[in-house]
Amino acid sequence: MDIYLDANATTPVLPQARAAALAVMAESFGNPSSVHGTGLRARALLDRVRASARRVLDVPTGQMLFTSGATEGIQTAVLSALVHLRARRDAGDGDAPTLLLYGATEHKAVPAALKHWNQLLGLGLDVRPIPVGRDGLHDLAWLAEHAPRVGLVCTMAANNETGVISDLDGIAAALAHSPALWMVDSVQALGKLPLKLAQRRIDYAPFSGHKLYAPKGVGLLYVREGAPFTPLLTGGGQEGELRAGTENMAGIAALGAVLEALEDGQTFHDHARLQQHRQRLASALQEAFSGLVFNAPPERCLPTTLNFSVQGMASQRLIEALDAAGLHVSGGSACGAAQALPSYVLEAMGLPAWQAAAAVRLSFGAADDTALIDEACARIRACGATPSGLGLSAAQVRALMQRHPTPVLVDVREPHEQAVCEGTALAQGHACESAPLSRLPDHLADWLALPPEVPVVFFCQSGQRSTKAARALREQGHALAFSLQPADPRPAAATVPATPRPAPEASPH
Ligand code: PLP
Repeated sequence: MDIYLDANATTPVLPQARAAALAVMAESFGNPSSVHGTGLRARALLDRVRASARRVLDVPTGQMLFTSGATEGIQTAVLSALVHLRARRDAGDGDAPTLLLYGATEHKAVPAALKHWNQLLGLGLDVRPIPVGRDGLHDLAWLAEHAPRVGLVCTMAANNETGVISDLDGIAAALAHSPALWMVDSVQALGKLPLKLAQRRIDYAPFSGHKLYAPKGVGLLYVREGAPFTPLLTGGGQEGELRAGTENMAGIAALGAVLEALEDGQTFHDHARLQQHRQRLASALQEAFSGLVFNAPPERCLPTTLNFSVQGMASQRLIEALDAAGLHVSGGSACGAAQALPSYVLEAMGLPAWQAAAAVRLSFGAADDTALIDEACARIRACGATPSGLGLSAAQVRALMQRHPTPVLVDVREPHEQAVCEGTALAQGHACESAPLSRLPDHLADWLALPPEVPVVFFCQSGQRSTKAARALREQGHALAFSLQPADPRPAAATVPATPRPAPEASPH
């Protein structure tokens, strides 16, 4: 069974959320704008979920709008603030702000929205990142210095790559005498942190359902009472004319089930338990990989996120080693079309280039149980027992063979010494090639022509030649090359012929 440890990217849907969505699609399918019974039942559901969101987020006043997700919420908040700033400028307000600020580690949706609407509305304001320190926290002195000239400040509650929790009270203090509107992207905080939205004078807070066990395509936007608002979507007058479009009732029902689970406290672990889970995973990682460093101070981070780098190990290699053990984590770096780019978040924090390029993010869910975390720790330790993720135990190879029905097994021993070993035992019933290390160069082109997702596992008696072969193939560009590390290397016992590959041309070596 694969273990999913990429919850900051998205989460599975809670069973009760799935059931709620299905019930809406099957039975309570009404349009909440209709005035007959079917519509009124849908309307009642909408009102119930909104009320639950208000309780969970502790915001009795202001607007709580259903959206398609956080990107829409961010666009709406930025548009609203910028239309307000343009009105001030057009009214000849001599004190109209000149700056739009966003944290240097914000999700890209934020600077993209600021630049987009700044240009589209013809504002020409100066859009600038707020520097962050090595700990990922905003430079509050810098913010306070610029605060008098700012029209909108965007600072996330917690970072999606590192998990760093922003000092929202510090930011509020830096903005105390500023005219700035304030948006807090709260996507990664929901269910993990108390936000005190109303107490903190936050003007806009977008949320996303799929980061907390609801499906994709549903989200929330909180708008403080009295904060400027311009609809992004106009049309049929839904959501009190603030967000047009027939509501995504299945998504809203599912989100409602998640909010209910947050309210009843049965499904999600508390902060202390989540910290225990993270501590176990952190210890397993440190034991498994020497030279591992955490890229943000864990005590400043969400209790569900670990971002780390291992010296001398590219993030892709580390991800593949963990993947081979059935652990799904992600790169802490943004993937360009063809290559992994260093993480802009870690670069903004001023981490050394190798750390920013080698970063891996492990993020688990607030509902994951302790047994799953323990199994993940065991697999991490097993991964670390192999050299740099290149070597795999027989159990890991078996797991790999289950997940990839067509891995290529290669015996790199010379024909005269081929005898039963762990590799040949594993290869029972599976095609196995013979390619002695001395003839390796003749075979490389064939393996390099394989699709990149096909693993190639080399084996020999001791694990030494197979490690050389796997390393050579990786260096040539096939990332999923592994070496079977025998648990108990024994002398040859009986000769078992492997399926010979077509005889290569004689090579000088
Ligand atoms: N903000 C943060 C911090 C995120 O992590 C994400 C998703 O990755 C978003 C915004 C965008 O959310 P959505 O996928 O709901 O548009």
